[in-house]
Amino acid sequence: MSLTDIKNRIAAAETRFGRAEGSISLIAVSKVQPNDRVESVLKEGHRIFGENRVQEAAGKWPEFRNTYDGIELHLLGPLQTNKTRQAMELFDYFHTLDRLKLAKRIAAMRDELGRCPKLFIQVNTGNEAQKAGVSPEETDSFVEECRALDLPVIGLMCIPPVDEEPSAHFALLSGLAERNGLAELSMGMSSDFECAIEQGATFVRVGSAIFGERVAPKA
Ligand SMILES: *Cc1c(COP(=O)(O)O)cnc(C)c1O
Repeated sequence: MSLTDIKNRIAAAETRFGRAEGSISLIAVSKVQPNDRVESVLKEGHRIFGENRVQEAAGKWPEFRNTYDGIELHLLGPLQTNKTRQAMELFDYFHTLDRLKLAKRIAAMRDELGRCPKLFIQVNTGNEAQKAGVSPEETDSFVEECRALDLPVIGLMCIPPVDEEPSAHFALLSGLAERNGLAELSMGMSSDFECAIEQGATFVRVGSAIFGERVAPKA
C-alpha cells in the first residue's frame, strides 16, 4: 500500500457510497513510524497527520513544521489532563475528549491561550472496560456539558471492539452525531475505513496501510 493507493480507495468509496467527492479527510497516522517514512509522505504533498502521544509528537512535528507549510496535526490517543497545555500548543484537533475534567481544563487553557483545537468526543461504542470514551448513553449529556463550556466540539470519534463487525459501531456513532447536530465523524482505520465511509465517516485515520507495519509496539 501507499498514500496514493489509499487516496484512490477513498475516492472510489466516496463514489460507491454516494458521498461527495473530496468530502473525506485522510489522517495519516504516523505514530512510532521512523521520520524518513513520515517525511516521504510529506514530500508527496500530504499534510494531515495523526499522533497518539503528546510527547512523541512534540519530538518530531515542530521541526517538520519549520520545513513544510500547512501541516494539520490530530491527537488520536488519550490525553492526560496535565498535558493539556502542551497538547493545545501542538495539535489542531483532539479526537479523545472523554471526560468533564478534561473539558474544563481545555476551556480554561482556551481562555489563557486564546485558541483551541477542534474537538471530537470519543465514544466507547462497545462499552469496553479497558477503552476510553463516554458511553453511548452518556453522549448527549456530555455534548451538552461541553457546549455549556463553549467548546468547539465538531464531532464524535470511536474505535470499535477488535473482535466485532465495525459497521454496527459506525452506524451507532453516526446516529449519535446526527441526533446531537454534530457534522463530523472520526471513524475507520486501515482495516475498515471503507466500511466507515459507507456509514458516514468524514475523517478516516489510516496508519499501517500507508506507512507499513509499525516497527515499535503499538502506542
Ligand atoms: C493507531 C491508530 C490508528 C491507525 O491504525 P492502523 O490500523 O495502523 O490504520 C487509528 N486511530 C487510532 C486511535 C489509533 O490509535
